[in-house]
Amino acid sequence: MENSIYNVIIIGAGASGLLCARECARGGLRTLVLEKEQTPGRKILVTGNGRCNLTNARVAPAFYQGEADLISSALTQFPYQKCRAYFEDLGILLIEEGQGRIFPQTGKSTAVVEPLKLAVSESGADILTGQTVTKIKCGKTFNITTQTGQTFQARRVVLACGSCAYPQIGATSSGYELAQKLGHTIIAPRPTLSGLVLKENFSRLSGIRAQVKLTAPGVQTQGEIIFTAYGINGPAALNASGIITRALDGGNMPLHINFLPDVPNAHAFFEERLKRFADRRPKDFFAGVLHESIANLLIDFKGLRKNKPMREQSANTLRSAFDTVAAWPATVTALRPWNEAMAAAGGVKTSEINYNTFESLCCPGLYVTGELLDVDGQSGGFNLHFAWASGFVAAQNLVKEK
Ligand SMILES: Cc1cc2nc3c(=O)[nH]c(=O)nc-3n(C[C@H](O)[C@H](O)[C@H](O)COP(=O)(O)OP(=O)(O)OC[C@H]3O[C@@H](n4cnc5c(N)ncnc54)[C@H](O)[C@@H]3O)c2cc1C
Repeated sequence: MENSIYNVIIIGAGASGLLCARECARGGLRTLVLEKEQTPGRKILVTGNGRCNLTNARVAPAFYQGEADLISSALTQFPYQKCRAYFEDLGILLIEEGQGRIFPQTGKSTAVVEPLKLAVSESGADILTGQTVTKIKCGKTFNITTQTGQTFQARRVVLACGSCAYPQIGATSSGYELAQKLGHTIIAPRPTLSGLVLKENFSRLSGIRAQVKLTAPGVQTQGEIIFTAYGINGPAALNASGIITRALDGGNMPLHINFLPDVPNAHAFFEERLKRFADRRPKDFFAGVLHESIANLLIDFKGLRKNKPMREQSANTLRSAFDTVAAWPATVTALRPWNEAMAAAGGVKTSEINYNTFESLCCPGLYVTGELLDVDGQSGGFNLHFAWASGFVAAQNLVKEK
C-alpha cells in the first residue's frame, strides 16, 4: 500500500504541470501527472498562433496584474535568463523577436511541447491522460478520484489546472471547483487578452490597423490596434484588456484612442501643418498622417466640410477635430467572450498562497500554480513565463521538503 502512494500528484499536464513534474521527478520524488485530455500540453500548442511565445526577455512584475509580491517571488526564483537556459537545455533552439518575445526557432509550438514531454518522461514522472480529477480528499495523505472512478494517493498535490479561457480546446472551470472545495476563495474569473467591445460604431474601419496610444482609467498602452466589427483588437487593445476587465464589472469604461502616439503636442503639430497645407481639402490635409478611412470617419464625425479648404473651416471645428485625433473618445462595454480570450483574470485568491513556495495556506501539502491563480500577464510570453516559473518554484519546495 505504502508503495502505491506518490510523493506528489500534479493535476494538469499543461505548461505549469509539466515543468513542475519534471523538476519533482528529477529531485527524486515519485511523481504522477493526471491530465483530463488525451494529450498533454494542448493549450501550449495553440499559443502564439501555433508558434508558442514561451517567455519574454523583458519579464518583470510590471507586465502582470495580480499580487505583486507573489509575482515577484516567482520571477525572482525563475527569471528570464533561467527560463531561457532551461528550455535551451531541453534542446530547443530559441529566437528573440520584437519587444523581447521568445519563440522556438522552428516557428512551431511542437518544438516546445515535444521536448518538454520527452524531458518529463526521461525524468521518470508518469503521465496518465484521459483522467479528469473530480474529487480531492485531504487527510494524512490526499485521495484523488477521477471520472473513471480510479483513485490515487499522494502526500502532496499540485493543482495546475489552468483557467477556463479558450474552452474550444477543453479548458474548463474544473480547477476552480477543486480549489474551492479545498477551502480556497475564487475571484470570479473574467476573460482577458481578448478584444475590446466598444459602444461606438467603428465598423467602417473594420480590418484597418493603426499605431496608437490607448488611455483608460488606470491604464495606458501603446502599439498596434486592429478595428473589428465589434470594436478593437490587436496588441495594444489586448494589453489594456487585463486592467479593463478587472475594472469593468458589468459597467462601461471610457477609453481614448490617440492616433498620433509619438507626437508630443498634437495641437502644435496640426497648427504647423495648417501653415503649409491650409489650401488643402480636409481629406488631403490628413493624408500622410491618418489612414484614409480614419480621416474620412473623422471628417464625418466632426462635420468638416469636405469640399472646402482647411482655411475655410471654422476654428472650433478644427480644434475639435485635432483634439479628436489625439484622444478619440470611445466606451468599452465588454470584453470579447471566453472563446476569444487567451487568459483569465481572477482565479484562486493569492493571499491564500505562500508567496515563497506556492503552497496553499488553506490546505497544507496542496500547491497551486499557473493560470489557475489570480494572476494574468500582458501578451508577449508573460503568461507562459508565469506558468513555468510558478511550477518551478513549487517543485523546488516539494523537493526541498522531501
Ligand atoms: C489562443 C491562446 C494563445 C496564447 N498564446 C500565448 C503566448 O503566445 N504566450 C504566452 O505566454 N501565453 C499564451 N497563452 C496563455 C497560456 O497558454 C496560458 O497562460 C498557460 O498555458 C497557462 O498554463 P497552465 O499550466 O496554468 O494551464 P494550461 O496550460 O491550460 O494547463 C492546464 C492543464 O490542466 C488540465 N486540467 C484541467 N482541469 C483538470 C482536471 N480536473 N483533471 C485533470 N486535468 C485537468 C487541462 O486539460 C490542461 O492540460 C495563450 C492562450 C491561448 C488560449
